[in-house]
Amino acid sequence: MLRGACPLLCAALTAAPAAAAEEQAFVLRETAAALPNGLGVDHGGFADETGRRWVAVRGEAEILDVLPVEWVRARRAIPVGPPPDGVALPEGVGRSRFDAAVAAAPRAEAVVLGWSHGGRDIVAAWFGQPPEAGAPSLWVLGGHHGDEVAGYEAAVWLAERLSEGDAAEPSVRELLDHRTVWVVPWVNPDGVMDATRYNGAGVDLNRNYGVEWSSREQRAGSGPFSEPESQAMRRLGGLVRPAAGLALHSGAVNVGYVWNHTESPAPDAPSLVDLATSYAATCSTEDFYVTNGAAWYVTHGDSNDWSYGRFGTWEFTVELSKRKLLEPEAARQTVGEHEASLWAFVLQPIDEVVVQDALTGAPLEAWARTPTGQARWGSAATGRIGLVGAPGVLEVGAPGYRTVEARPGDVVALEPVSVAPGVADPPWVRPVRQPVHLPGAGATRVLSRVGEEPVRVDVDPFGRSMVPAGRLATGWWTVEDATGAIFPRAMGVGAEPVDRWPATSPGARAFTLGVHRELVEIAVEPEGTPLVREAVWLVDAAGEQLLVADAAAPEELWARGAGCASIPQTGHLGLGWVSIFLGWARRRREETW
Ligand SMILES: [Zn+2]
Repeated sequence: MLRGACPLLCAALTAAPAAAAEEQAFVLRETAAALPNGLGVDHGGFADETGRRWVAVRGEAEILDVLPVEWVRARRAIPVGPPPDGVALPEGVGRSRFDAAVAAAPRAEAVVLGWSHGGRDIVAAWFGQPPEAGAPSLWVLGGHHGDEVAGYEAAVWLAERLSEGDAAEPSVRELLDHRTVWVVPWVNPDGVMDATRYNGAGVDLNRNYGVEWSSREQRAGSGPFSEPESQAMRRLGGLVRPAAGLALHSGAVNVGYVWNHTESPAPDAPSLVDLATSYAATCSTEDFYVTNGAAWYVTHGDSNDWSYGRFGTWEFTVELSKRKLLEPEAARQTVGEHEASLWAFVLQPIDEVVVQDALTGAPLEAWARTPTGQARWGSAATGRIGLVGAPGVLEVGAPGYRTVEARPGDVVALEPVSVAPGVADPPWVRPVRQPVHLPGAGATRVLSRVGEEPVRVDVDPFGRSMVPAGRLATGWWTVEDATGAIFPRAMGVGAEPVDRWPATSPGARAFTLGVHRELVEIAVEPEGTPLVREAVWLVDAAGEQLLVADAAAPEELWARGAGCASIPQTGHLGLGWVSIFLGWARRRREETW
């Protein structure tokens, strides 16, 4: 079942020799015309955070090797062996309808977020404002579970509806002037192809996300985000920061709100219930009901808890139909029952605040929350934070900046804060203020220091860069581009080790530079003088969230590791020891603030 033909992808895969040296990569779109023989332009591509467009190519690794490094990124070996049975996502799951909808839309683009275990594209499309606008965003995710047909059918329908609406309906067009709607119909393309719940490695992707992940869940994977499909969603989430979202499933008929791992009320629970109730009110499915996710049944590591916990996304799970595998006619009927609700959800009112650095006017990656709500994070590139649920009075803050009160629609200028009052700044390092990614993601940067050989580092598509162990001596370095221009606000933290409760720390051996947006506060301890901050989010070697500590659990807030931070105004990057004494910080704050 579910077999058909997708000429584009079939052609791409069948044309590729099954050679071990075959790779897929993205190249800058403007260079695609100049590619040497032997590299074929594949389908798919994306815009990075700086607005440059990248297109997928495939060919032998030796050919990719000779291209200028600035042209190429995200190289990846193509799995050897014969293509999987069926090769592509066929018409039976709506791929060509999805592609046609994107092609026909006035403002839309399909992108490849990554590849499944089986080598299949994980396809998404945005509608409305392009991602680089940083506009308030929503996302709709189908096909986490490949046997839940109604979920991806509904996502494909939504893509078609958005395409039509933007083309022909002024009211829709006006809403899409101020938002981006992302649709990911098949998060798990291998599972869709095989009509199975699990991905190509037998993992349940909706237990593989990184908030409250648990090894006790069935087929949760070897760890949070162990799977390429969930990693792709993590990348998208990091870029998009959706204000709200839907994860479409089937096997029951309800709409569930977070949390899913606990029945303890989520910070925004009353508003979440309201939004879920609105969805249910316009859904004509018989016996459809609203439930707290965990009250229905407890899960760990699902997409809702992750996006809400991580970005403040108001993401709901919709179970569209009691049956999972559906014939086309039944799938169409199910989608029809949900059309009004899906449509109203993605077109619901969204407010926004725009956050800037008061000194420079530069956009800040910031959060906004109601006094009792979850922090909702916005775009790093534009400082825009999307807010559903008519939030009213907000607290707005950013790492290293003073928190202020604001209202939806405000442009907020935040003032940087220094280290804890009464503690003199150490002479050789400063607290991190607002870490942002290194400009020019995908390019090469140079770390330089008087008396040392310059160190070239490649910055990955997400602004991160690994410096090999032992490459950088303690002291000041600057982050420069090839022309010597300095990038301010680079920062890093020791990737290894960052221990949770160590008595001693073995020291800095590797550094991650770049996009530590989640590193809320970090202070450096020169010669035993702890500087203190009030919250700490650490990142792992991949630049992703590893440890979140906050004032709610002060006894867990003692972390020590090695790291570095830059002086924002100059781009100087200081390498040394970092200690974070959060519990201590909190006590101190109570004493002195
Ligand atoms: Zn499901």
